[in-house]
Amino acid sequence: MVYMKNVSTLKLDKDLCTGCGRCTEVCPREVFTIENRKASITNLDNCLECGACMNNCAFKALNVKSGVGCAAAMVKGLLKYGDMDKGTCGCENGGCC
Ligand code: SF4
Ligand code: SF4
Repeated sequence: MVYMKNVSTLKLDKDLCTGCGRCTEVCPREVFTIENRKASITNLDNCLECGACMNNCAFKALNVKSGVGCAAAMVKGLLKYGDMDKGTCGCENGGCC
């Protein structure tokens, strides 16, 4: 599922990346791949801005504005219902996520 196109605030600083692969392990949406010993954002539109990658990157190579809007609701849906598509944001779209 693509969350939204071109809206994720996720940024990767390849100069800081060591290619440790931790982001590929913690990301629930398979946003990253490791290419040539560096992380690469290969599925940006899958990102739901949960912040797990940023919080687990020991080299401060990742930045994302996490915990806001529908993305946060999707994470709550995942935690509460085991399904990130059953969010609980209650937005005017009536359960878009
Ligand atoms: S966790 Fe950070 S340093 Fe490790 S591969 Fe991902 S971006 Fe690079
Ligand atoms: S913010 Fe969450 S969904 Fe987006 S790339 Fe990082 S771990 Fe994956």
